[in-house]
Amino acid sequence: MAHIYLASPHMSEEGYEQKYVKEAFDTNWIAPLGKNVNEFEKELASYVGAKDGAALCTGSAAIHLALKAAGVKEGDIVFCQDLTFSATVNPVIYEKAVPVFIDSDYETWNMSAEALERAFEKYPDVKAVMPVHLYGLPANMDRIMEICKKHGVPVIEDAAESLGSYYHGQHTGTFGDYGIFSFNGNKIITTSGGGMLVCNLEEEKAKERTAKVRFWATQAREPARHYEHKEIGYNYRMSNIVAGIGRGQLKVLDQRIGQKKYIFDYYREHLKDCEGLSFMPVHTDERANCWLSVIQLADNCGVRPLDVMIALEKGDIESRPVWKPMHLQPVFKNYDYIDNGNVGAVLFRRGVCLPSDTKMTDEDLERICGIIRGLWK
Ligand SMILES: *Cc1c(COP(=O)(O)O)cnc(C)c1O
Repeated sequence: MAHIYLASPHMSEEGYEQKYVKEAFDTNWIAPLGKNVNEFEKELASYVGAKDGAALCTGSAAIHLALKAAGVKEGDIVFCQDLTFSATVNPVIYEKAVPVFIDSDYETWNMSAEALERAFEKYPDVKAVMPVHLYGLPANMDRIMEICKKHGVPVIEDAAESLGSYYHGQHTGTFGDYGIFSFNGNKIITTSGGGMLVCNLEEEKAKERTAKVRFWATQAREPARHYEHKEIGYNYRMSNIVAGIGRGQLKVLDQRIGQKKYIFDYYREHLKDCEGLSFMPVHTDERANCWLSVIQLADNCGVRPLDVMIALEKGDIESRPVWKPMHLQPVFKNYDYIDNGNVGAVLFRRGVCLPSDTKMTDEDLERICGIIRGLWK
């Protein structure tokens, strides 16, 4: 039986990606930049409803430049969601700023508005707030934006996992001043590796900020015939080949979301008799992209997350724990953490990310569910 991945690249059956890549070859626009990059920026910004986008080499690079664009400097406090991938936080450290970790809530699995309010009382001079839309579940953006607007602090949404997820009809990543997306290999669409920064300020400002981001991303080269530099730059731009893959993938994004939802619904239906097993909170008034299907196992249900992961592994099937909270990571142990009852740590302890590869067949899904149900017998 074939190996089943957690989530692997899934190119279009129609070959859209290859068509755009071929175009780049045919015109010798391999690099730097070119039509695919320009079009991919426009197409992605238009898909999510953002004013403008800057295509970069990774989602991490997009977070880094969003922090710079938001004016985060050495010693500044940045509120970061505690339950996330370390890529959310690393760029805060690159800028020598100071992360403060904010716990999640059970309703969204993302940044708790209550904990955020308490964080503002403790650190009123915070410079930016970074909620995440984990596993494609939208964060509580109404409350988070309300609180941040009241304090006049910019929000950077880490929407790396939530392309195609909407909160109350608006695309995730378009509420805060900046939103970032990732096209890494395991994301809902992939360019092999890549990222996008979108800016949601008013039109003029958005164009100005994304232009600045593109400038930093191309070694901060001043407009002169010779190489003139007044600022430190980065080599963070997306290549025209990679952007071609992105344009093709964008055409099948809605199809992928449908497949991810099918997988989630399949698990929900076929694992409903496993006592103590529950699912991530997908609310009916939202559209979550269901990037990964994640379950929780009650502490006393007799089956532990590790049992599920080992049983699947024996069947050559990948699964994974939920992200380990940042305040529990040795590398971040010296930073403050605003607790909301340790929700993130509980979700980590009880969680398993089930295989969510869009190339899985019903037979694959049934095999997975059979192995999991077998643990209850
Ligand atoms: C994948 C991911 C990133 C980083 O994106 P890359 O393109 O891999 O650099 C950031 N945050 C979260 C939550 C992610 O899942």
